[in-house]
Amino acid sequence: MHSTMPDTPLTIARILEYGSTVQGSSTVATWTGDGFDRRTYAEVGERAARLAHALRTSLGLSVGTRPEDRQGVVATFMWNNARHLELFLAVPAMGAVLHTLNVRMPVEQLAYTVRHAGDEVIVVDSGLLGEFAALLPRLPAAVRHIVVAGPGDRTPLSGFAGEVHDYEQLIAGMPSDYPWEEDLDERTAATMCYTSGTTGNPKGVVYSHRSIHLHCLQVAAPNRYDLTNRETVFPIAPMYHVNAWTVPHAAFATGADLLLADRHTGPGPLSRVIEAGRPTFASAVPTVWTMLSQEWDARPRDISSLRRGLVGGSACPPALMAAYRDRYSVELLHAWGMTETSSLATTALPPRGVDAERERAYRATQGQFPLSVRFRIVDEQGVVVPNDDVATGELQVRGPCVTAAYRGADGVPERPAEGFTPDGWLRTGDVGRVSPDGYLTLTDRAKDVIKSGGEFISGVALETALAEHPAVVEAAVVAVPDDRWGERPLAAVSLRAGSGVALADLRDFLSRHVASWMVPERWAVVASVPKTSVGKYDKRDIQDRYAQGRLD
Ligand code: ADP
Repeated sequence: MHSTMPDTPLTIARILEYGSTVQGSSTVATWTGDGFDRRTYAEVGERAARLAHALRTSLGLSVGTRPEDRQGVVATFMWNNARHLELFLAVPAMGAVLHTLNVRMPVEQLAYTVRHAGDEVIVVDSGLLGEFAALLPRLPAAVRHIVVAGPGDRTPLSGFAGEVHDYEQLIAGMPSDYPWEEDLDERTAATMCYTSGTTGNPKGVVYSHRSIHLHCLQVAAPNRYDLTNRETVFPIAPMYHVNAWTVPHAAFATGADLLLADRHTGPGPLSRVIEAGRPTFASAVPTVWTMLSQEWDARPRDISSLRRGLVGGSACPPALMAAYRDRYSVELLHAWGMTETSSLATTALPPRGVDAERERAYRATQGQFPLSVRFRIVDEQGVVVPNDDVATGELQVRGPCVTAAYRGADGVPERPAEGFTPDGWLRTGDVGRVSPDGYLTLTDRAKDVIKSGGEFISGVALETALAEHPAVVEAAVVAVPDDRWGERPLAAVSLRAGSGVALADLRDFLSRHVASWMVPERWAVVASVPKTSVGKYDKRDIQDRYAQGRLD
């Protein structure tokens, strides 16, 4: 029997139209350093329309409404700000593709992604022109236009062979409404993001209108971000990596106000944004939450508006969650996701009716899978194991917001065998177990597992235990070669100033939490643990520095 319901496309154009009308009085506020530059969502909608006209008529960007159409690609090299939000919405809604460049990625990798993605226009924050200049000599000829967003000196662009435009001049005088494609096929490419590529070249994931629309509905819902038009949300996680975990779309779709920190990414300025903008919800990786709590311990701030925080991107030590709950009354919600899963997938909201101890245990997991994500744990023999919270193996997932391929060099999707199973599941490379009620616990990343004398040591378990020690600020544990055991763990730790703790104390502390044979012999005390471009512990870099004897 046929249903009576239409296949109305699920698009970003709809999020833009809805947010800028029904939620038109909600606001996006960008921090300028001493105040906010505030715009309503209605104004964002008008400026998005002007931008779309300018990209189409002044820059000749091609737009398409079907997956087979040629679509122009607009890259951004920007912080979290209102102009970036306009691009987030306008570029896909008009039928072009948005590619967010990770401003902290090494320049060779950036150049690779610009070429690989087929970027034609790059919009750059004027404050980032200095960093962008390093990329300039490596830009392919396909990049015809650079649009500078914001005031400032343009001389870093003097060597560019194409055209340079000013964002505000480009959109000035353009019509403030736009016929957002009503017949846009929801399967059409919308935005593109590359993994941060700690090993090998970054891999391109191309999201569709449908996947982002569905992801937006999924994350805004209860059990996830739980957003309403009464919240003020502060995505600290950058818009240049995995769509800022779809927070901007979810805010636009629910009418939650948005706060954006622009280039002010240090703990002091972020705290000022919180004091002045009074967000109720914020999202960041664990290293940022750690940095903020250190800042607040040193300089008390009024962060009383903040009630909930999302923490994901790497494992959040339970000690950090406890500190936020006890010291600041902020409930950190632990989440797991990947570029390949449109960012957030699981969230660790405990079920009702559990005692305090089990509540903490649930919150420490990576979280419960949502409706749209199918999951399975597969052991080394390729056998699917039961979800009994005991059997471990590789996590494999599939679903409408989980990529089924990577962008190939010629734009055609490719499905490398190491990334996907023959029956179409994404191989996450994460190792762990799932409980009967669908809560995921990760013990490691396959490539980070420490294999010592034929036994596995969980680096994550050691990191989590170390984070409980009051003197430890950050702790990363990596595998290093060992003549006798093949591999042994190395712990790189940064310590609270003046803590005076000895490594022997840390070793003793650890042996009370894990089996004594797992306790590392090798330790490095570092000022700060090396991080990747998205703020995770850079385990490759730690191993390289250790091998070269320069880990300090
Ligand atoms: P990359 O770091 O390769 O660019 P992503 O940002 O997509 O890629 O990171 C995805 C990976 O981050 C996951 O496969 C997992 O290893 C790790 N990760 C994300 N969230 C968590 C979490 N809550 N706990 C542990 N690991 C996590």
